[in-house]
Order: sequence, then structure tokens, then C-alpha cells
Amino acid sequence: LTAASGGGIVAYADSARAEEAPEPPPRKKKVVVLGTGWAGTSFLKNLDSSRYEVKVISPRNYFAFTPLLPSVTCGTVEARSVVEPIRRMFEKKGKDVAYYEAECFKIDPTKKAVHCRSAVGTNLDGNGDFMVDYDYLVVALGATVNTFNTPGVMEHCHFLKEVEDAQKIRKSVIDCFERASIPNISEEEKRKILHFVIIGGGPTGVEFAAELHDFLVEDLVKLYPAIEQFVKITIIQSGEHILNTFDQRIAVFAESKFQRDGIELSTGFRVIKVSDDSITVKCKSSGVETLVPYGMAVWSAGIGTRPVITDFMSQGKRRALATNEWLRVPECDSVYAIGDCSSISQRKIMEDISTIFKVADKDNSGTLTLKEINDVLEDICIRYPQVELYMKSMHMVDIADLIKGGVGDSNKESMVVNIEEFKKALSHVDSQVKTVPATAQVAAQQGYYLADCFNKKDHCVEHPEGPLRLTGSGEGHHNFRPFRYKHLGQFAPLGGEQAAAELPGDWVSMGHSTQWLWYSVYASR
Ligand code: FAD
Ligand code: MG
Ligand code: MG
Ligand code: MG
Ligand code: MG
Repeated sequence: LTAASGGGIVAYADSARAEEAPEPPPRKKKVVVLGTGWAGTSFLKNLDSSRYEVKVISPRNYFAFTPLLPSVTCGTVEARSVVEPIRRMFEKKGKDVAYYEAECFKIDPTKKAVHCRSAVGTNLDGNGDFMVDYDYLVVALGATVNTFNTPGVMEHCHFLKEVEDAQKIRKSVIDCFERASIPNISEEEKRKILHFVIIGGGPTGVEFAAELHDFLVEDLVKLYPAIEQFVKITIIQSGEHILNTFDQRIAVFAESKFQRDGIELSTGFRVIKVSDDSITVKCKSSGVETLVPYGMAVWSAGIGTRPVITDFMSQGKRRALATNEWLRVPECDSVYAIGDCSSISQRKIMEDISTIFKVADKDNSGTLTLKEINDVLEDICIRYPQVELYMKSMHMVDIADLIKGGVGDSNKESMVVNIEEFKKALSHVDSQVKTVPATAQVAAQQGYYLADCFNKKDHCVEHPEGPLRLTGSGEGHHNFRPFRYKHLGQFAPLGGEQAAAELPGDWVSMGHSTQWLWYSVYASR
């Protein structure tokens, strides 16, 4: 994506035109995509596959629409309605793409190859391993569950990541009801078996609790009237509130709705151990430990790194699969990472401040006028989105407000700043660097963005000049705009047709028709 990557993708997004592309090279470049989730399929759908030789590797030959998985746990939605076979998707879109149902277990960036193991079984040699080489690698293999090494969680808890998980949960809930209906079971035992515990009060845990509650009161209680009184749902959350990534008003609304429904909220508790019939929790404030008997538990408390990614990271001594703002893995030739498996490390403006000053100081006067600053402001805001976020958070109207804060009380129009004053003015801006959340929205937008880069690659190589001169990082000229996440809001169904939605622009909606509002927002995407 950069000059550093050698013939990378360099372009100015808006000016790219397909007819200016040069004759296609004799051999198409090989693009290998790992994963067929939100990020991978979004990339593939948008990629002009006639320009590349595309190979897709994923142990699942279907895409899963994860937002509806909680509804599958209770049969509100059928499993087959939330998946789309990957081969059919390619066929429908007329994509010339090869697909291998396999798991990548090693990425070798020096040989530019990935090592894979067939997911369907072994070949005739009794060995299903094979190697695929690439010119460009797109790593989109998502995240795994994170147990934080809590003893017993892997063995005894359910997870809700895959379609199979949702189906297993459904079966397990019904099993609990049947077990509690067997004669000669004590009341205490019934209460234990019918205690459904959700660990983690994030959107997935909350939505599952709401679905489960509806399922119990609308369906199961009619089928098992004798044991209705013993049923209980508990959410254990280590933070003070559930849904803590949402607006506080939504958290409060959800909590009171759950209280009315009789769903117990244990906030401020950490799970420290799980056995086959009880969960040990520790109160964070008092340190007191308690045993919670349960029948079925679902763990939805965070995401972790897949082993193949951990291995890849350790080769380069990286802590997380970090990419630059163009979604390329630095110091790695032609490897890109998108979705839950990756994170973007946003370049800090203070690292480049001297370069920026020099570029802006066109007359080499050693000082900047307001006009000189304004001339590069757009480029600065594209390269360092934290500048805009900072000004917004401080209720600043224009850049002069920011600079004046740094140089004291001077007149806006006639002010000039030297390098020290310029540095001082921008010194707090980097505190506003935001990490993008691990959501389908982000994954899909990243996939789309990266495909766009790949589609415009030829043009970019031909026209490397563009408006972004403020790089400073030794990355060369980035003339393609960096990835920018556009938040379209978030949504939490709370059961009984109640829901809460948060839309951009401080717009919060809670209550009965919210669900339909949200679905229409979704549908329009
Ligand atoms: P995934 O979608 O997980 O895809 C990873 C892909 O990689 C899969 O195809 C997998 O089979 C494949 N893979 C795994 N290992 C390998 C390997 N070794 N080699 C090759 N391929 C491999 N987000 C929202 O924005 N809104 C929501 O309402 C929402 N609801 C959710 C509900 C649930 C129950 C869950 C679990 C998640 C929800 N999310 C939601 C989050 C969202 O699903 C994830 O952020 C999103 O799936 C990330 O996309 P991804 O492509 O990075 O990973
Ligand atoms: Mg993916
Ligand atoms: Mg997915
Ligand atoms: Mg990510
Ligand atoms: Mg000057």
C-alpha cells in the first residue's frame, strides 16, 4: 500500500478511473484471502476479481450473519436463514474465485506462502496439509473466544461465536428443562438445573439473555408448567453496568427492563472458576467469594487472538496484529489484516510534527501564518483524524482556536507561530486517538475499503502524486486516503419487542418500535 512495500498501492481515491489503467500484466497477481466472515466476504464482494488470481481459504464454506445468532439459540430464527454458502455467493456475484475448505495454521511472510490443513479430511497420503503462495495476503480470520485462562470455562461453558454454538445452546436449554422434569428431583436440584447464567454483559450476552427470557416465558413455560417457578436467568458482569459500550441512558433502560423481567444482574463480580455444577464468583469490592450453582452457562466475555495470529506476531515480535492506517502490516511485504484479528495503530501527530511544520512553512520563514496552516489543514485531518476529534471535544470552531490555546492571547488573523508554539498547541491532540471496536460494521467497512485499494492499484502506481504530503513516517507517499471508520450506530434487542438503539449524532431511541427502526437502518445498508 505504500512505497515502502515496493510497488504498493498508491492513489488518490476520487480521481481513479478504470479506463486509464494500463494493459493487464502477463501474469495476474495472486491474492490469498484467509477467512469468510464479515471482513473477508466484504473484501471479496467488492474486489474486481478479474484483475487478480483470487484464492480463499476458510474452514467454513459459508458466511454467518452474526447479529442474528442470539435469535438462533432460541429458535426465533432458523440456522439456515443466517448463513450464506460461500460458493453460491461467488457464483451469484459472477466472481472467478477459488475456494479451499481448510484452516491456515502458518503464515510464512518470507516465502510469501500460507500453510493450510484441509478441514474436510485428509488426502490419500493421510495428510491434508498443503501450501498456497501469494503476492498479496489478506488476513481476515477473526477472533476466538477469550476465557482469560479462567479454570473450567473451556470445559463447562457454552460460547456464542458460531452457528453450531447457537444450535448447541438451544439443545442444552431444552435438556435442562427435561432433566428438571425427571421424577424424584429435589427442589434445590431443580433450581440449580434451571439456573441459566450468562457471563459478560456486553451486547451479545445481553441479547442472548433477552432471547432466552422470551423463549422461557412464551414457549417453554407452557410446555413445562410444573417447573416454571424454578427458572432463573442471571447475568454476571465484572463492570458496574451492562452494555458499557453504549450510551449510559441505554444501559439504565436495559437494566430496569431486565429487573422488571426478573433477570438478575450481578454487576461488579468476576468469575474465577467454573466447575460442572457451580461457578465461583468474587465480589470486586469486598473480595468475598461465592459459589453459584447453575444448570447451563454461556461465556461471552471478550475476544482473543487465534493461535495462527499469535505465531505470526511472534515472528515479528509484535504484540498485536497491528496495521497502519491503510490496513497493511508494517515491516511485512504485501500482508494486509482486516476485521477482528487486527487493530489499526494510528500514527501520532507529535511524531511527525517537525515534518508537518516544514511542509506547511512554504516561505521558509521559520514561522507559520494562519493561512499557511489552513492550506495543509485538510491533509492533516485526513492523516491524523485525532485533530478533528480533539477540536470537537474541546468545542473549538476552527484551527485558530487550537493554535491560540498554544500561543496565548493573540489575534486570530494576524497570528504567527514558531515550531515550539506549534508543538505546544498540538501536544494534547494525540490523546484523542480512538481504537475501532471489534464489530461487523468495522470488519465490513475495512473489507470494502481494502478491495477499493486493490481495484485502483494500477492507477495508483501510474499516478503516485496526490494531496497527502504529510507522511513523515518513512512510509513514503500515501496518496490513497487512510481507512476511516464510519459509525452507523449500535442496537440492543432487550426482549419482548423492546430494544434500544444508538444512532450517530447523539440520537438514542428506546422502547417498542426501536427494533423496526434499526432493522430499517440495517436494511438500507
Ligand atoms: P469473523 O466474521 O469471525 O470471520 C472469521 C473467518 O475466518 C471465519 O470464516 C472463520 O471460519 C475463518 N477462520 C478462522 N480461523 C481460520 C484459519 N485458521 N484459517 C482460515 N480461516 C479461518 N457486530 C456488529 O457490528 N453488530 C452486531 O449486532 C453484532 N452481533 C454479534 C453477535 C454475536 C453472537 C457475535 C459472536 C458477534 C457479533 N458481532 C456484531 C461482532 C461481529 O460478528 C464480528 O466483529 C465480525 O464477525 C468480525 O468479522 P471478521 O471477518 O473479522 O471475523
Ligand atoms: Mg473474515
Ligand atoms: Mg462472520
Ligand atoms: Mg479490528
Ligand atoms: Mg512561514
